[in-house]
Amino acid sequence: MIVQVVILDLPYNVRCDYTYSVPPDLCGRDLVGCRVEVPFSRQRKYGVVISSADDADAPEGIRLASVLRVIDDKPLLSEELLSLGKWISEFYVSSMSESLSLILPSTHDRYRKKPKTRSEKDRGLSSQGPCGGNKTKTNAEITFNDEQQKAFDKIAECVAAEDFRMLYLRGVTGSGKTEVLMRAARKAVDEGHSVLYLVPEIALTNQLRKTASELFSDDEMAVVHSNVTQKMRTDIFERCKAGEVKMVLGTRSSAFSPLRDLKMIIVDEEQDQSYKGEHSPRFHVRQVVQKRAQTNRSTLVFASATPSLECMKAINDGKVEQLVLSRRISDSGMPDIVTVLRKNADDVISDELLELMRNELDNNRGVILFLNRRGYLYHYKCQTCGFEMICPDCSVSMTYHRSRNTFVCHRCKREIPYFVRCPQCGNSNELYSGYGTEYVERVLKNLFPFSSIVRMDADSTSRKGESERIIRDFESGKINILVGTQMVSKGFNFRNLRLVGIINASQNNMSADFRQDERLFSLLVQVAGRSGRFSKDSKVLIQTDGSACEIIKYIESGQFDMLYETEMSIRKAFMLPPFSRMGRIVIRSEDEVALKKFFGEISFLLHKLVADASKAARYKIAIVQEGPCPVCKEAGRYRMQFLLKSGSANAIVEVFNLLKGRIEYKSNVKVDFDVDPFDFT
Ligand SMILES: [Zn+2]
Ligand SMILES: [Zn+2]
Repeated sequence: MIVQVVILDLPYNVRCDYTYSVPPDLCGRDLVGCRVEVPFSRQRKYGVVISSADDADAPEGIRLASVLRVIDDKPLLSEELLSLGKWISEFYVSSMSESLSLILPSTHDRYRKKPKTRSEKDRGLSSQGPCGGNKTKTNAEITFNDEQQKAFDKIAECVAAEDFRMLYLRGVTGSGKTEVLMRAARKAVDEGHSVLYLVPEIALTNQLRKTASELFSDDEMAVVHSNVTQKMRTDIFERCKAGEVKMVLGTRSSAFSPLRDLKMIIVDEEQDQSYKGEHSPRFHVRQVVQKRAQTNRSTLVFASATPSLECMKAINDGKVEQLVLSRRISDSGMPDIVTVLRKNADDVISDELLELMRNELDNNRGVILFLNRRGYLYHYKCQTCGFEMICPDCSVSMTYHRSRNTFVCHRCKREIPYFVRCPQCGNSNELYSGYGTEYVERVLKNLFPFSSIVRMDADSTSRKGESERIIRDFESGKINILVGTQMVSKGFNFRNLRLVGIINASQNNMSADFRQDERLFSLLVQVAGRSGRFSKDSKVLIQTDGSACEIIKYIESGQFDMLYETEMSIRKAFMLPPFSRMGRIVIRSEDEVALKKFFGEISFLLHKLVADASKAARYKIAIVQEGPCPVCKEAGRYRMQFLLKSGSANAIVEVFNLLKGRIEYKSNVKVDFDVDPFDFT
């Protein structure tokens, strides 16, 4: 017997599939999907068997090396996951080694499952935190409103049909989407199926676990995200395969859970950018689970208050059926939205916002303020000599952080001690143009010296459990004013909150990202949605500098459909996604000369491939940009890019794969392929 093995942990540009012979004592075993240890260029390496054949099919005249050891007793990866791995490596232009490493819970055998004693199992479970007992639970009584009931029935009907279907649960903030999804998941499990429930952020898994534990027992449910240890992950992987786990609640990395009889996949907050991978293979969860739903004949349910334009188009084209929840479950109604145009950008808190805040605090209610920037002050510039505080390793401006008294680069995390005088001319005549949450916190402490003010952003919540503590304290009234970045925008159901203030809803006019309006809209709707979920007369005050006025106008009047129409027509006019597909190649090197030379070589190959493809293919394909990236240096590496556009993703994928095969890779230059890119920096 011979086997085809994909070697794991190889550099991205090295061939990774090789044929090995199987020792006689292992012949006859089902090895496809098993991890093995094999000799590889005088080392021992781990790999995954992706296919097997008879000796007769062995290549002639070559002596094959032999598999040294089989790690798994039974295949770890099913046929479905192996072919998913193959699809990922093709579509996202990565190696099989990379895509299988993504799917496997761990690439080595240190965490191989051993038979457990009962006490070990108990320990393992208790480390998952408090869930509600181990007894099987079922749908308890709940009263849905008519819209919720209709949505629930439709989802249940589709799951029962056991066919590939796509639904979109589109509901305003506070409309009880989660209840509908959880109940539908419970029903699917009751009928013997399993469910994958995806959320964009770890914080949301914590939120949802509470709701889920009312319906699912510890044995039935597993929570998977990037902070779960490899050992736990491997354990959950095995329990999914064995059919013990019926529902996985998790972030991006849990999309590959090998659940048995998977008939329902939920993608909550579908529009969130965290669903797109940041490293090769740069997969998008939406696309990966669509593939899985097709293979498994499952119902795929997207959910959000603000669908992505991609999904909106699929709804308009009739590919996805929309289920609408148009009102809140409590009879609180939607919050009143007020806009204040600030003439002076340095006024952090406008008079209008100040008055509303005083009123809330006088009535012992909390206030949330939102600003999507962390740090103290932005864009240091010396007024005398023009010196700007740019990161020495990246081509971006550094941010002054007062608590650390340093300038911090938000791209590479490099810190430089603060200086009182300009390092170039020695004067202290600097000007900053922009502030972050740390600055707002300080302004608030002066305005409200007797209130408890807490900041919630990546800096203040780096300690484990800190964000949970802040949320608890805000809920209990210990914190009066919470100021934060997008961390405060999602999923929270604060009972006593009637005022949300948005410090600065402005666009970054320098950004060339065509999705920035869509993102701002989604973010503002999410933040605004925290207000008044349980009480009437709630308010959202948006401070603006006059930019983004179109978006704010539509949010103010609640005309979301108009906003989608406007945005769609812009995208269509410029043939931007979702009316076209894009592809991006980024090449990076510390050596600027080598990079430029390599860039020239790729450019030559790419232009030829694109010309050939355009002649042959049904779809046109074009290089729309080539040259330095907007962020032309990052962490000491220079960056250059190619941006492609086409009517068909497959046309781009084909060109990319051909190019990948023809590039003569250099050790000091890294090439990154990105199909349907979200990051254009
Ligand atoms: Zn100066
Ligand atoms: Zn930097």
